[in-house]
Amino acid sequence: MNKCCAVTLPAKMQDVNIQNYINGEWVAPTSGAYLKNYNPATGMEIAPIPDSKSADIDNAVRAAKSAFPMWSNMSGVERATILNCIADLIDQNCAALATFESQDQGKTVASAAAIDIPKCAEYFRQFAKYVTEGIRETESSMKLVCTTSSINKMVPSSQRATTQHVASGVAALITPWNFPLLMVCEKLAPCIAVGNTCVVKPTELTSVTSYLLTHILNAAGVPKGVVNIVFGSGVNAGEPLVKHRDVRLVSFTGGSVTGAKVGALAGGLFKRVSLELGGKCPSLVFSDCDLEHAITTHVRGAYQNQGEVCLSASRQYVQRDIYEKFLDGFRKQVCQEVCVGDPANPKTFYGPVVTKQHMEKVTSYIRLAQEEGAKVEFLVNPNDPAVMNVSADGRLTIEGLEGGYFIAPTLITGIKQSSRVMQEEIFGPVVCVAPFDTEEEGVQLANDTQYGLGASVWTEDQKKLERVMRQINSGSVWGNNWLAWDDCMPFGGMGCSGTSREHGPWSLEFYTETKVLYTHTI
Ligand code: NAD
Repeated sequence: MNKCCAVTLPAKMQDVNIQNYINGEWVAPTSGAYLKNYNPATGMEIAPIPDSKSADIDNAVRAAKSAFPMWSNMSGVERATILNCIADLIDQNCAALATFESQDQGKTVASAAAIDIPKCAEYFRQFAKYVTEGIRETESSMKLVCTTSSINKMVPSSQRATTQHVASGVAALITPWNFPLLMVCEKLAPCIAVGNTCVVKPTELTSVTSYLLTHILNAAGVPKGVVNIVFGSGVNAGEPLVKHRDVRLVSFTGGSVTGAKVGALAGGLFKRVSLELGGKCPSLVFSDCDLEHAITTHVRGAYQNQGEVCLSASRQYVQRDIYEKFLDGFRKQVCQEVCVGDPANPKTFYGPVVTKQHMEKVTSYIRLAQEEGAKVEFLVNPNDPAVMNVSADGRLTIEGLEGGYFIAPTLITGIKQSSRVMQEEIFGPVVCVAPFDTEEEGVQLANDTQYGLGASVWTEDQKKLERVMRQINSGSVWGNNWLAWDDCMPFGGMGCSGTSREHGPWSLEFYTETKVLYTHTI
């Protein structure tokens, strides 16, 4: 059971043959059909994706259900040994996984190797530690222990009440494409650490690293049926998984429109459901901030990972007296720092967006801003030798990668607060910047959204900082920072950004059922 073998991953993309992973075996989809898949930097076809359907989901859920009694009855220490082995194998294969992630998703190899892949390993180690050592108070303000005695006047003194957190059963884990492997591991680690078994349905747009993970799971000795990964579309594979009668719990990360469907389906069938959805994150930059720090962080916040980040700083409100200075500094910083191009080149800041369809969606918002009379600037680095041409709607032609889906770093000003460009999630390298006058107006603009995922506030006045941070309706608010991360803290959104909190102890809470045991002492 505790074997941790080395794993040999395919050497190159042409060798990747994506198959479903069900009951510890690699199997073709029952329909025999596959979806096309493209490298976004070149537009060339890469490993096709199984177009799985209900029959494949049935097989995977059956395998997960039959593995559940064995896995949930194993000790935390035994499960943790396997989780730590998964983490070690991810670390050992970081460079290869980062390269495949980049070729499938478009993000730079450097960012995948520095952020995505190491974080995957960290999640497995974190939850291995939780189920063996428990949670220290310093790691969280929420106390979650396996068994707590309660002192309650309503309970007779001869009776002891204790709570017990037990694994839920078979979980459905459904993930998006912007951090492909990271999103899978963020859910998978806590899910199986506490004893659930699962069926993972990764996004059909970036499935390669989830497939490679199956080889790591196998080498780490994950017993058959504990983790099943079924590839395919949301309609053909995702929906049957959410609806499956033997699935007790659904953890979904994706867009808000899909989240509403998944939430309605799962909720109507009384499943535990967690929805981590989109964002249109505001930042409020006051005139008394450290402007240089604010500008460099806002450039990163707008364009990191091609702007394909749910927490992207996509609405930046700047106090009027520093508005022009901020914009000048922002333009200068982008032109100095942001090179767009080959994601394998270490000098590239960001690569292509994920698909041709997504490029068309992003540029449709750019055209809308132009039609509405906003000022639209494409901040192309004059020293970026790879950029051959910028189209009227911001598409870039990159030398040697003419078939890729590249978009210029786009700055939009003079756009109305009510515009769809300001209100909807664009999920690309496009940022809207607008002025505000008073603190009250700033807060009102920041909160004028259907979303509530993340926000940041910039001022050197500590009292104002705390006052404003408290008034913003977001799951996470950063003060003089953006995306400083603590995995022991809860993550999730308000409104259309989601209904739940995961990460750290909050994941342990979500992935378990809470029971109360009333014991009568004789
Ligand atoms: P999406 O909603 O299109 O798809 C997400 C997943 O749901 C995919 O695996 C897809 O196949 C599946 N799916 C689609 N329809 C389904 C259905 N009817 N039933 C079940 N499953 C279905 O999202 P996307 O375009 O892949 O991802 C981008 C979105 O994800 C953005 O809105 C982004 O903000 C959001 N996101 C949120 C977070 C967060 O933690 N809040 C993190 C990353 C991404």
